[in-house]
Amino acid sequence: MGADARPVGVRAGGGGRGAVGPRTSSRALQPPLPPLSFLFLLLVAAPGVRAAGYETCPVVHPDMLNVHLVAHTHDDVGWLKTVDQYFYGIQNDVQHAGVQYILDSVISSLLVEPTRRFIYVEIAFFSRWWHQQTNATQEVVRDLVRQGRLEFANGGWVMNDEAATHYGAIIDQMTLGLRFLENTFGKDGRPRVAWHIDPFGHSREQASLFAQMGFDGFFFGRLDYQDKSVRKEKQQMEQVWRASASLEPPVADLFTSVLPNNYNPPDKLCWDTLCADKPFVEDPRSPEYNAKELVDYFLQLATAQGRYYRTNHTIMTMGSDFQYENANMWFKNLDRLIQLVNAQQANGSRVNVLYSTPACYLWELNKANLTWSVKQDDFFPYADGPHKFWTGYFSSRPALKRYERLSYNFLQVCNQLEALAGPAANVGPYGSGDSAPLNEAMAVLQHHDAVSGTSRQHVANDYARQLAAGWGPCEVLLSNALARLSGSKGDFTYCRDLNISVCPLSQTAKSFQVTIYNPLGRKVDWMVRLPVSEHIFDVRDPNGTIVPSDVVIAPSSDISELLFSASVPALGFSVYSVTQVPGRSSHAHNRHPRSQKSWSRVLAIQNEYLRARFDPDTGLLVELENLDQNLLLPVRQAFYWYNASVGNNLSTQASGAYIFRPDRQEPLIVSHWAQTRVVKTPLVQEVHQNFSAWCSQVVRLYPGQRHLELEWTVGPIPVGDGWGKEIISRFDTVLETKGLFYTDSNGREILERRRDYRPTWKLNQTEPVAGNYYPVNSRIYIRDGKLQLTVLTDRSQGGSSLKDGSVELMVHRRLLKDDGRGVGEPLLEEGSGVWVRGRHLVLLDKPQTAATGHRLQAEKELLAPQVVLAPGGGAPYHPGVTPRKQFSGLRRELPPSVHLLTLARWDRTTLLLRLEHQFAVGEGSGNLSSPVTLDLRVRRAEVGRRQGRDRERGERGNPALSPLSRAQPLPTGPVLHLHHHVPAGDHAGGQPAPGQRLQAQVDTRHGWGPAPGAGGCAGGVGMLARTGIEL
Ligand SMILES: [Zn+2]
Repeated sequence: MGADARPVGVRAGGGGRGAVGPRTSSRALQPPLPPLSFLFLLLVAAPGVRAAGYETCPVVHPDMLNVHLVAHTHDDVGWLKTVDQYFYGIQNDVQHAGVQYILDSVISSLLVEPTRRFIYVEIAFFSRWWHQQTNATQEVVRDLVRQGRLEFANGGWVMNDEAATHYGAIIDQMTLGLRFLENTFGKDGRPRVAWHIDPFGHSREQASLFAQMGFDGFFFGRLDYQDKSVRKEKQQMEQVWRASASLEPPVADLFTSVLPNNYNPPDKLCWDTLCADKPFVEDPRSPEYNAKELVDYFLQLATAQGRYYRTNHTIMTMGSDFQYENANMWFKNLDRLIQLVNAQQANGSRVNVLYSTPACYLWELNKANLTWSVKQDDFFPYADGPHKFWTGYFSSRPALKRYERLSYNFLQVCNQLEALAGPAANVGPYGSGDSAPLNEAMAVLQHHDAVSGTSRQHVANDYARQLAAGWGPCEVLLSNALARLSGSKGDFTYCRDLNISVCPLSQTAKSFQVTIYNPLGRKVDWMVRLPVSEHIFDVRDPNGTIVPSDVVIAPSSDISELLFSASVPALGFSVYSVTQVPGRSSHAHNRHPRSQKSWSRVLAIQNEYLRARFDPDTGLLVELENLDQNLLLPVRQAFYWYNASVGNNLSTQASGAYIFRPDRQEPLIVSHWAQTRVVKTPLVQEVHQNFSAWCSQVVRLYPGQRHLELEWTVGPIPVGDGWGKEIISRFDTVLETKGLFYTDSNGREILERRRDYRPTWKLNQTEPVAGNYYPVNSRIYIRDGKLQLTVLTDRSQGGSSLKDGSVELMVHRRLLKDDGRGVGEPLLEEGSGVWVRGRHLVLLDKPQTAATGHRLQAEKELLAPQVVLAPGGGAPYHPGVTPRKQFSGLRRELPPSVHLLTLARWDRTTLLLRLEHQFAVGEGSGNLSSPVTLDLRVRRAEVGRRQGRDRERGERGNPALSPLSRAQPLPTGPVLHLHHHVPAGDHAGGQPAPGQRLQAQVDTRHGWGPAPGAGGCAGGVGMLARTGIEL
């Protein structure tokens, strides 16, 4: 290693055992390439010259061991206290923590001594504090930032969780934080490093996103204890993470550093009000004199730590949770430490200690010009002891996890309609509409104690409150936008409780209108289900044609539901009319569904693509058949539960909010049989299964659907017997899977998992169940040479394959003991969290073509249509203009491989558009994995007065988006024309590889700011394409 003479900095190389896949081997034949972001540095990197953003870094001693002290605080955006309680320092009896005082105190202390440095991370807190400061203080802080004495690391709104988060929401939350920094501090505020010191395991997609956002390095604290000990021994605490199997290196390469002591200070060296370590006493006459002892201890510590790292630089995190409320204590002692330790250099010491930052530490590593080994898998699951696997939180608080995912869906709808309708969405007949509150609430939810389900109960309630508060202004926005775009001021109403069949308007009105908005870049057919009174209805499509409809009984209730299939154009809506038909009685055939057991030995449902067969004696699903492709697989599905450990003689570790530890490795079945009832109508076929008083399921097929839908309802989980329970849904098949299964990473790329195995070290498996659990954000699958069984989830869950041919997902958990990781409460939800309903979508395909199904279906689930009701008869928006019942924001649909990730208003004159290729290399059947070229052009016919300012920016030959006028009211609303023409390929970045985000156009006007969240950070090259559209 290091033999290559090219003057590159931190770069990837071979040599990592087990980390060198075929791609790396082939790379080894070529000159190793540095991570993309480092190319940027190299342009200006020369001895003695500081690269942009690094010019303020402190001077080091090249011939000594340099110890970089990083003064920091870790401020959770909610955990034991709510966000507001932490910020203001309320409930200090629960946990002493007040972020406003921390920032006050740190700023004052930085001013005392110019060499002092501090990093700050959580912009949710910082921005709040900032807005409360005087102009004079703000100016002082700007100065500190300019001088590098206050540096931002990470810079997201929160430090997001990596297991239970979807990549779309991660990008949104990073954008929010980074945008604040850019607007407030310009380029001085730009974070250079990603800093995820606390999340409980690290996903590959997170590293890929950080690399594409343009970060130069990634630091974290937690990894498996076995992994860490191997890494220390091999000096592999620092590596290049090659974080995508589809993106051509070095696009998703990111230098990654494991911090030596999680994120805490070394033992005995914590000088905070929250610690009890002795301060420096320099007076030798004092009986408390300890200066020499502390200096000797430090020198020994630094030398020992330095051995695990490859350069003559090492880093120490001097701070921890909510520390620095009295920053003087910390800084005063760090000043002394630096002074006294460096004074030893006169006596021959080769240790140099300094105030630094992670970016400045990274800068020195970059200059060391080494070649680093490469890692290609991820850091899941995380264990901090033989029986301590942090795999419970993958499933903790499933109701909150679903609410978060549903809110992601709604936020995208809100953002899109704000972009499509323009300012009319914000101010209109229904009041002030605003997407910002939901955007902020969603960002907060990504925090590693929020969507992870690891906060206290009252904090989880507060997270839900924040989401709910964000929905309100978005609903107003939707009403304004829909009125503007449809031309009709309907009395819009939003049924937030459709999942439990509650919607007052549809249940009482004799006629009403249903507006279905489709946030996808393609037309969608969607089965609408609305609770109604017992009547027959005529349902008419936007053209006034009657479409088939049905009334069925909702599962486990007496509520009737109206069903009809709606067809909705891309990025647009359709308005359907529903009218009660007078004088006719309700359908008889659905009122009294029969148990088929009594008359038939065949219990099955089917449509044109699938047949699902159930055992007539047990009522369990036993077989799935793909009729289209002639594939048949016996699949037995049932619910089981693990008895949560409360500790045993091997370990006192209990199962809790973070930790999953079953008492016995074999789960118990909830019930060997289910009471069934069958519903068959032209529009739906369902088998209702009742397993127990707290566990039921509807297995469902709609016409035209290529997946089997399993809608489960679990809870309240009974714990009166004193046993905490962790409920799973398990599919058992005969597939010969050889220990392999596959899970997604944050809903995006897929990782192969092998039971009882880790790709980079020899695993000593100590928990055969919990140690094989992985995060499942959107899908898990198993396959053999012929068949693939895929299960899509509607929220993040933990999952595994513990036997060949088997797949399981943990749907709910209720526990009686705390697991000793700080939260201090058992995961014993009360109220709305106890009863959970969710869906698993099951697909049976050939392995070669499976991705076509699961990619497109997962996209459809993530961005499901939004249903909005109105009584009908709304006044026209513009007098004399006929309302429209159908609208599309696209003139032409996006090709199936292109996912419309973001369409949002950026500012008064700019829209943000993110597109991505949603298939991995070699994944899609046909040409779905092939590169795609899109020509983005706003419809010329609607181009208004500012045509002369048409901007040609970005890439050669890439036609700029034309300005779109809002000067005169357009009854149709603006149309964003995304023209797909193949093959063009004449503009740089226009032929993205599969898995890449399309490089549509990079708007350089914003400099770096939104880029880390939106693409194009370092050097303006990012695969998260961002396009400025002049309005
Ligand atoms: Zn934390």
